[in-house]
Amino acid sequence: MFNRRKFIKTSALSAGLLAMDKTSMANLMPSKATKVANLPIVISTWDFGIAANADAWKVLSKGGKALDAVEQGVWVPEADEKNQSVGYGGLPDRDGRVTLDACIMDELGNCGAVLALEHIKHPISVARKVMEKTPHVMLAGDGALQFALEQGFKKENLLTPASEKAWKEWLKTAKYAPVMNIENQLYEKAAPQKLPGNQYNHDTIGMLAIDDKGNISGACTTSGMAYKLHGRIGDSPIIGAGLYVDNEIGGATSTGVGEEVVRNVGSFLVVELMRQGFTPEAACKEAVMRIIKKKPETAKNIQVGFLAINKKGEYGAYAIQQGFSYAVCNAEKQDLLIKGKSYY
Ligand code: ASP
Repeated sequence: MFNRRKFIKTSALSAGLLAMDKTSMANLMPSKATKVANLPIVISTWDFGIAANADAWKVLSKGGKALDAVEQGVWVPEADEKNQSVGYGGLPDRDGRVTLDACIMDELGNCGAVLALEHIKHPISVARKVMEKTPHVMLAGDGALQFALEQGFKKENLLTPASEKAWKEWLKTAKYAPVMNIENQLYEKAAPQKLPGNQYNHDTIGMLAIDDKGNISGACTTSGMAYKLHGRIGDSPIIGAGLYVDNEIGGATSTGVGEEVVRNVGSFLVVELMRQGFTPEAACKEAVMRIIKKKPETAKNIQVGFLAINKKGEYGAYAIQQGFSYAVCNAEKQDLLIKGKSYY
């Protein structure tokens, strides 16, 4: 027998599903070319973000895509041998091997990542190839290297004399102990006075850009924690932890002790909080507070910073410790450096 109630319920449900499908489909579609006042814009973590933003700006200011901007922007610290926390010249793991982590995400929710990749100067570009040329999201270790070589990337030695020297120095005293915050302890040994947070060896570049079509992309790349266990992966190449982009809402990225960011799925959390109406800074603060609330003692001695941008191009950041900085670049100013607010 025909059951009217059941029919209404079912039709309402399918109508709802249809409507929902339409909305989520629309959210996934790149926005039309509507110019928003302060767009395009690019923001990135730490002082070295200024130089990275400048190259991203070359793409954005010519009407280029946010995805190309973030890739080309982070090439700058990846290639800079003086930067010992990203790409070429990065400090090695405890076995003396430079292993790189990177991920990239576009406005359609596509993403790609490489984990513990060795011998390739621009892991971000390999991550982009994973996104564009494979049905996968992540490639790790030897498999990532094999894929990179197949894609035509050059195999090179990434351990510079300066980083090798620093590692050998570390070896003299280092006992094998995978202490999460080893860098801070080393710094404190070297200089017992309280050091500002940005002198700790936690320096990943996370970059978020919105192009003139209003589309958002992000990139995150690092050599990870200095003298880490071989094979250790932090937050940086993990979508949702080190980076997350939702073209409807905004994007977020992180830097600092990756383990705590992974435990709290930090960047995804920040974007979801912005979806609920939090400003970028308030969302970053809430994500930091989750870490502090769960592990107040650990949090006293570690740095974690989040950086976020919303669909309107409003941005903000928050860190556990003082010293976190981020760089902002748009048509008004190309080399703005902002001191992130912090809990301590
Ligand atoms: N988040 C990175 C990691 O844990 C390190 C950093 O940002 O300094 O590998």
